[in-house]
Amino acid sequence: MRKEYETVIGLEVHVELATKTKIFCGCSTEFGAPPNTHTCPVCTGMPGALPVLNKKVVELALSVGLAANCSINQFCRFDRKNYFYPDNPQNYQISQLYLPICHDGYITIDTPAGEKKIRIHEIHMEEDAGKLIHDEWDDCSLVDYNRSGVPLIEIVSEPDMRNADEVIAYLERLRLLVQYLGASDCKLQEGSMRADVNLSVREAGSDVFGTRTEMKNLNSFKAIARAIEGEKKRQIELLEEGKKVIQETRRWDDNKEYSYAMRSKEDAKDYRYFPDPDLPPVKISSEWLEKIRVSLPELQPEKVRRYQKELGLSEYDSCIIAESSKMAALFEETTAACGNPKKAANWFIGEVSRLLKEREMDADKLSFSPGNLAALIGLQERGEINGNTAKTVFEKIFDEDIDPVTYVKEQGLLMVNDEGALEAAAEKILNENPKTVEEYHAGKTKVLGFLVGQVMKEMKGKANPGKVNVLLEEKLKNGE
Ligand code: ADP
Ligand code: ZN
Ligand code: MG
Repeated sequence: MRKEYETVIGLEVHVELATKTKIFCGCSTEFGAPPNTHTCPVCTGMPGALPVLNKKVVELALSVGLAANCSINQFCRFDRKNYFYPDNPQNYQISQLYLPICHDGYITIDTPAGEKKIRIHEIHMEEDAGKLIHDEWDDCSLVDYNRSGVPLIEIVSEPDMRNADEVIAYLERLRLLVQYLGASDCKLQEGSMRADVNLSVREAGSDVFGTRTEMKNLNSFKAIARAIEGEKKRQIELLEEGKKVIQETRRWDDNKEYSYAMRSKEDAKDYRYFPDPDLPPVKISSEWLEKIRVSLPELQPEKVRRYQKELGLSEYDSCIIAESSKMAALFEETTAACGNPKKAANWFIGEVSRLLKEREMDADKLSFSPGNLAALIGLQERGEINGNTAKTVFEKIFDEDIDPVTYVKEQGLLMVNDEGALEAAAEKILNENPKTVEEYHAGKTKVLGFLVGQVMKEMKGKANPGKVNVLLEEKLKNGE
């Protein structure tokens, strides 16, 4: 009989920090510049060049650590991790091994069985490597050092996750946390967030861990979920055949849905780590730490709770709005300006989300003024424009941030409540559609909707649909 197995997963997540300059030099971190234009003697590993630590990196690492409930090493240090590779011009990477800046934290995820804590072993600061480009056409490899020295934090979890859903939930939480702190945009596809998955299996009920493998090259949540399923299956099959899992680094091929051995797993001792003699230890004063602690923004889970409790939104709606810190900020400013959280929320859940999807845009790129949306809500509330016009005008606000009050006037979009004009239009439509009128009288009252639509069209969409409805019904009842 086949045994029952349990999967054990721990993650190593690299996040590129959103600083203007690199971790140990003044070169720009901006993405997409021509190759090797953001470089200097420090980040290209020239002999004698000396690194100087970017203070902002420490600040961002501390804010992530505090938000993830970590203890802080107020005396921390950088170590050299020695290895040769052409994208690593110094032949060592400056990282932290002995005294990482943050340790022993946790974040909470939601699981079907309730809340679960995923413990964080440590968070350390390090520098990114350059990028190798293998040119098959010219049969050569090129290297771009623009990324060399871009600051990273590595967030190492304990092996506390048991399936793909928990892994995705953990990554989502982590991503939201880091984004809310403004520490990184955390885009898996662009590589500003990268997750390596350590996975082992063991017989259900066992309390010793099995041998793990580490999978790299995972650039979407879907790829991560597939890789977990694939690797779990591979390991169970090995064990069922009486074979052993080898501790190694594997590369997940998402097209073939299989992982391939890359190299046997190296230990810390293989890297000959030692404290970097070029960098003094970092002392973090309690005052500095406290300053960062008190300036931490409200994070996503707290926002979701507050929106429900104080603003009366549903949990579902609150989550959609708080999915992006940018969207949440715009929503809060719109609410402050119009005084109606529910109406404001409806715009974000409805039109804002719809247009983001349609334009294939990220919420952090939203750029309209909340004041303009609030003014639009006001126009509609006062009955100056109808719902359809409001949607059309909002699209203009979304794309061009126009002032709706001026725009509506200039374009003549104010709602027509003028009885005479409505009468004339209704009369015209009834005369033009005798068949439909007959159908109505024969009991097919839902054709009224069609007639209302025709009148709205006749009025170029600017009529008050409620009024049109009442007017038409009256006229039809009176036998017209
Ligand atoms: P190393 O220093 O060799 O990379 P660590 O012990 O620091 O190894 O662990 C690296 C990652 O692997 C951590 O995220 C940890 O949770 C995870 N991990 C460790 N042991 C196991 C295991 N048996 N099964 C699954 N994940 C594991
Ligand atoms: Zn540089
Ligand atoms: Mg480790």
